[in-house]
Amino acid sequence: MATTALASIHELPELVVGDLALVVAPASERTTIEITVERDATLVLKAPHDTSVERATQFVNDKRQWVYRKLAEKDALTGPPITKQFVEGEGFAYLGRSYRLTLTEGVTEIRLERGRFQMNPSQAGEGAAAMRRWYTTTGTQWLQRRIRPWVKRMGQDDVSVAVRDLGYRWGSARPTEGPQSINVHWAALQLPPSLIDYILVHELAHLHETNHTPEFWAIVARLMPAYETHKSVLATFGKNIWLGSVHER
Ligand SMILES: [Zn+2]
Repeated sequence: MATTALASIHELPELVVGDLALVVAPASERTTIEITVERDATLVLKAPHDTSVERATQFVNDKRQWVYRKLAEKDALTGPPITKQFVEGEGFAYLGRSYRLTLTEGVTEIRLERGRFQMNPSQAGEGAAAMRRWYTTTGTQWLQRRIRPWVKRMGQDDVSVAVRDLGYRWGSARPTEGPQSINVHWAALQLPPSLIDYILVHELAHLHETNHTPEFWAIVARLMPAYETHKSVLATFGKNIWLGSVHER
């Protein structure tokens, strides 16, 4: 018999366990709980119809290391979330360097000037959204210049870059019939340029080969012979990247 304390997992569209958010698949006749990691790094939880939230949460916690490993295989960002506070002196990274935040009356939009991020104190309440906008706008311009030599070396025509929130992924790309484009996570703009280059090369290679086949890695290696170093540095570095979480006090 169900009690209110043991609500069914299927009453939720999504289960959040720590830094992991899982889509709850519709109930089916299955008898075991399972987590699947979709192509785009979306996590899906499949469970029998009488599974409680507590049981599902426990299951996700037990499988946490496995989930991180699977996400890492999909070039996803992993690890516990880094949180920020929008107070004087908080540090924010841009292109691998850290800058302090200063709250200044008189600035309307966030700007990076004289080695500091400047934000109007009235924006601090929604500081995370404002910072994301800054990374997106500034990053789009920077990336559109940065990608050009790589596109040329790849022998492609023009490829545009869009900066988005890609959840667990650094980047995404899908070949199309018309003009090609790739997506880069706004959070990637915190990384040093050499690692952003690796993300660009990786996504450009996906325009030729969708999967991580030997052919795919051969394309990456041709443009970036030291890519394996960048790949492993990115996996380590990525754990310290801010993805937009706000420190709750
Ligand atoms: Zn990939």
